[in-house]
Amino acid sequence: MDVVGSTNGDVGTGGKLPDWVLAPIPGAKKRTVRRHAAPYGVIEKVKLWPSKTGLLHGVRSVKLRGGFVELQTHCGHDIRMRNSRNSRVARHLRNKIYDEPCPRCRIPSWKLEKFESTSFV
Ligand SMILES: [Zn+2]
Repeated sequence: MDVVGSTNGDVGTGGKLPDWVLAPIPGAKKRTVRRHAAPYGVIEKVKLWPSKTGLLHGVRSVKLRGGFVELQTHCGHDIRMRNSRNSRVARHLRNKIYDEPCPRCRIPSWKLEKFESTSFV
């Protein structure tokens, strides 16, 4: 009689999963692809702010306070908005959505050209 297999208890470690299988993988669910920058960083760099009315304003000063962007345009607007990458401003900056530059801000053309050639990834 040939013994073709053993069924009496000798399964080794096969029935038990090693600990690492069940351990959470660190950082696995935090993997975010940084596709959209928050508006503050962008505004601070390009010094431009697209308004709701389609005008692109020049930014005189900008600061970040408690998650809010506070900025002042050259034509005297004081703007306070959430520094959210999903905000309208973030989207408009990213996609360069504006109708025309604000005549009162007198944005130099090199700045507009630089903005046009900036790509947001
Ligand atoms: Zn303006």
